[in-house]
Amino acid sequence: MGFIKFLGTAGARFVVMRQFRASGGVWISVGKTNLYIDPGPGALVRCLNSKPKLDPSTLDGILLTHKHLDHSGDVNVMIEAMTEGGFKKRGVLFAPKDALEEDSVVLKYVQAFVEKIEVLGENSEFRIGEIRFSTTQKHRHQVETYGLNFGTSPTISFITDTKFFPELPDLYLGEILVIHVVRLKPIGDDPIEHLSIEDVKNIIRKAKPKLTVLTHFGMTMIQAKPWVVAAELEKELGSKVIAASDGLKLDLEEV
Ligand SMILES: [Zn+2]
Repeated sequence: MGFIKFLGTAGARFVVMRQFRASGGVWISVGKTNLYIDPGPGALVRCLNSKPKLDPSTLDGILLTHKHLDHSGDVNVMIEAMTEGGFKKRGVLFAPKDALEEDSVVLKYVQAFVEKIEVLGENSEFRIGEIRFSTTQKHRHQVETYGLNFGTSPTISFITDTKFFPELPDLYLGEILVIHVVRLKPIGDDPIEHLSIEDVKNIIRKAKPKLTVLTHFGMTMIQAKPWVVAAELEKELGSKVIAASDGLKLDLEEV
C-alpha cells in the first residue's frame, strides 16, 4: 500500500513566483509511514486543500533535497504543522549540511521541534518507518543537492535539480523515475544548473525505467505543454512517460 502525490510541479523561479503551477513538493506514503519531500512555497496550503486532505501532523519526516527556495520555502511551517505547533517533539528532518548550518533555511528554534535531524551525505542509506532510501553522489547544482533512490515496491528514483553529468543515468535505476526537468532545450553554459529534455532522453535510454514522471517545469516546458512533450518522448523512446500535474496521485500498486 503506497502512493506519491504531487502537490506542485513548478520548477525554477518564474513558474514558482507567478504560481503558473503549484510548488508544494511531493508526499510519499508507504504503509503507515508518511514522508514529505521538498516543501516549496504553498506546501501547507496544498496539503490542507488536497482532496482527500493530507494532514501534516501525520508526517513522520520532511526531507529537503537542497536548500533552494522552490524546494524549501515552506519547510519551517511544515515542521511546525508536523509537530503540532512545536508542542509535540516528533518527526525526522532530513537535509544536506549546507541547508542546516550557516544561512540555514530551517530556523534554529524550529530545528528544535523535531525528534531527530539526519544530515544527508553522499552514498548513504536511511530509513524512516516503512520507507528505506539512499542518496548517491552529490548533484551538480549551486548548493549541496542529493537525489534519492527509494527501496519501495516498485522502486522509485527521484532525480532532483542537477546539471547533467555522465554518471547520472547509472545512479537512478528505479522502476519509477521522477525527473525534475526545468528546460525544454539545453542552454550551452547554463549558470542555473538544470536538466533539459535532451538530458532526459539520455537518462531514459540508459536507465530504462518502467515509468518516467516528468515534473518541476520551468517556463519553456510550460509553454511546450508538458503532456505533449511527454507523449512525444514516449513515442520516440518506446518507454512510458507521463507529465505530472498539480495534485497527481500515483498509486504504487498500479504502476
Ligand atoms: Zn535548485
